[in-house]
Amino acid sequence: MTDALEPRVGAAEAISPDPGVKRGTEERGGWIAAWVAGRKGDLSGRTFRTLVLTGFTVCLVLISGLWFITRSTAVGLPTPAVPPKGHYDYAGLIHLHSDYSEDASASYASLARTAADQGINFLIVTDHNTLEPIRAGEEGWRDGVLVLTGAESSLPEGQLLEMNVPSTLMDGSETTEDLLDAVARDGGLALIAHPAHRKWGWKGPVDDRIGGMEILDLADQFYAAPIRSKLTALALLPFNRMRAYLELGTENAPTLRIWDTMTQRRRFVGVYAPDIHQSIELWAGKRWSFPPAAEIMRIARNHIVSDEPMSGDFEADRALVYGALRDGHLFVSLDVLADATGFMFAGEHGATKVVMGDELIAEPDTRYSVTLPSTAAALNAVTRVLRNGVVVATSQPGALTYTYEDDRPGVYRIESVVMISTAFGADREVTWIYSNPIYSGLHS
Ligand SMILES: [Zn+2]
Repeated sequence: MTDALEPRVGAAEAISPDPGVKRGTEERGGWIAAWVAGRKGDLSGRTFRTLVLTGFTVCLVLISGLWFITRSTAVGLPTPAVPPKGHYDYAGLIHLHSDYSEDASASYASLARTAADQGINFLIVTDHNTLEPIRAGEEGWRDGVLVLTGAESSLPEGQLLEMNVPSTLMDGSETTEDLLDAVARDGGLALIAHPAHRKWGWKGPVDDRIGGMEILDLADQFYAAPIRSKLTALALLPFNRMRAYLELGTENAPTLRIWDTMTQRRRFVGVYAPDIHQSIELWAGKRWSFPPAAEIMRIARNHIVSDEPMSGDFEADRALVYGALRDGHLFVSLDVLADATGFMFAGEHGATKVVMGDELIAEPDTRYSVTLPSTAAALNAVTRVLRNGVVVATSQPGALTYTYEDDRPGVYRIESVVMISTAFGADREVTWIYSNPIYSGLHS
């Protein structure tokens, strides 16, 4: 760095006026004129002025462009909101890879450390076709983060995430049937990964042994993004990494359609998956540690809501996380826009009170309520109620609470959307929060 600075010092000295010259305006004007005239040997005065003006204009355009690109929409994690009374909110990531996967680079220790730095409470690491990390003792409370191990199986039907399963599973010989039976027998959880992916999307039957799916997968977002978005993201990358990542999302409408179809049959949990590998293959075995886990962990998260706090006891907290996941007591949020801690979607009928993931009866006076964290006001977030995948009600922009009454049976879920400026073109709508549904009058 010091070396790089030296030539500039030298250059400044070379164009300094003589120490003896007075610093009056007239003298300085005279010096500039002399300096311009001095260049006349190489360039005519007119050409020189044109070059200076052109350079100045180009700089101005570049600076305005950068200002436009980096302005607005809060990207960064603000102070967490206070959770509503009676519920604990834990942010976590499901489906990420460690160096137990051949195509990933981070160790469990570094993933936990990075998650702790980013204020994440739990991780469910799912390496390809292995539960070896459990046998190696990688699970546990690490740096204040509850680190759990699942797996991502590559099967003829597609990709499946298995969680809360015994470490003896997955010796490489199991068929899809064996795996699903084991998951069901041991009270585990199987989720469909990359549901709408052209190649990896699930092509097998979806029976009761499969409990849910990814509703937002960051890797899928990248693959599905149009080439224009990819190029824009690449151009933005050196200036504003988070805006670059946002440029690639969130075109997950096909995934949401699958989810809305499934939830009308039965409870089907929707989760977010960062699918972190932190490793891109460049050529013959050479890998680049990109994108950094610290950045990916800031973009979006799952938030589980629980009546009980975590205790610090590994087994109890493991059960708490997997229980909340299985029951759909969670929401997904793009926390890069603003931390959504404190969001709640609840329902009530008389004395019966439920939260997202639960069932409710559908009768007159069945009421749904949404509570948003204070960050929603600054974002001017608009909250929508969807019934069976169709919007049936919309809040005022920036409203922090919203209630809706509907006596019809159906699957009710919430999307909270915000407008963000884009690098080029009009503002774009992005879904900030996706709740899991409340299932009314369907499954009782
Ligand atoms: Zn994966």
